[in-house]
Amino acid sequence: MNFFAFHFDELKTFLAEKGIKPFTAKQLFDWVYKKWTVNPELWSNISKENRFLLPEILKFELPKIIWEGESRDGTRKFLVQMSDKQTVECVVIPMKERRTLCLSSQVGCAIGCKFCHTGTQGLKRHLGVEEIVGQYMAVSLWLREHDQLPLTNIVYMGQGEPLHNFDNVKKATEILMDDHGLGLGQRRITLSTSGLVPQIEKLWSFPPVNIAISLHSARDDMRTQLMPINKVYDLQKLFKAIKTIPLKAYRRITYEYILIDGFNDTDEDIRALADLIEQRESKINLIPFNEYPGSPYKRPSQEKIDYFRESLQNRGYVCTVRATKGDDILAACGQLKSEYEKLNLWEN
Ligand code: SAH
Ligand code: SF4
Repeated sequence: MNFFAFHFDELKTFLAEKGIKPFTAKQLFDWVYKKWTVNPELWSNISKENRFLLPEILKFELPKIIWEGESRDGTRKFLVQMSDKQTVECVVIPMKERRTLCLSSQVGCAIGCKFCHTGTQGLKRHLGVEEIVGQYMAVSLWLREHDQLPLTNIVYMGQGEPLHNFDNVKKATEILMDDHGLGLGQRRITLSTSGLVPQIEKLWSFPPVNIAISLHSARDDMRTQLMPINKVYDLQKLFKAIKTIPLKAYRRITYEYILIDGFNDTDEDIRALADLIEQRESKINLIPFNEYPGSPYKRPSQEKIDYFRESLQNRGYVCTVRATKGDDILAACGQLKSEYEKLNLWEN
């Protein structure tokens, strides 16, 4: 059993079953999540006997950071290895006062979007709860050791489709938000989905985090070309499901839209987008396509990107362009992992 997969209450019950006072759960959450101390020898307020016993019954193992690199713009990328040697990427993106961690939810991805490097790899497996919480902890500990400012936000925009791994992502999110531990606020967490309709309809049971929908085209035929999932869950089904997401006053849905040169960046696309999306409670985030070796598409010119944004803003939409970060360290989804596997560096 891995400590990082436990809810607070579950841990209390687990410890009680092993004859350890449930109060120890509070001490453990304090040491690990509030004082960043994962070494049992340093848990000074826990009895010597339990300091010995706890690591026998609970694993405190975190994924290993096996590569790390900083881009010229300050984006820092981590390649993180799980106990079965599978790897995923996490990226820390600094933006004004925020430092956002982009988390992975799966090894690879089954959705197979045509523009996405992870999509070309297929799904290897889901990540466990401890591996999702573990990415956050491993990166946080690394930042602390290197005298860097702590993380403030999380986005599930690394490898994988988080709603395909619904139960584990949900539990990991609850653990990250728990006030007994890290206590991350719901507004600081964003979940991005390619549009798995049945799971979107289950979001009422998920903590009320921000939701981003990867739209990428407001035209069914075009969206199907980019995202095979649109064949099963087309725009009509997707938007019917989105309406079921409980929205609190502050909560907006973000629509992500990768801009691809000559494909989804025309006037017709702007009109289709404006017809589809309500201005209220929505935000459009344009992402200039990130080219990678062998990628089938191109990024539009800055002029075209600006025109697309301004056209939507003129129609009353909140529309931003995501700054393309970390180009020089292969920041496009899934790229670092592939390059790394080619080199097979961990064998050295
Ligand atoms: N699977 C989920 C969440 C992670 S996808 C989803 O699709 O929403 C990772 C993010 O990277 C998404 O926002 C996706 O739109 C973006 N992305 C993937 N490939 C990209 C590329 N080549 N250029 C720019 N953004 C890309
Ligand atoms: Fe999977 Fe998201 Fe990449 Fe599509 S964009 S293949 S859903 S990770």
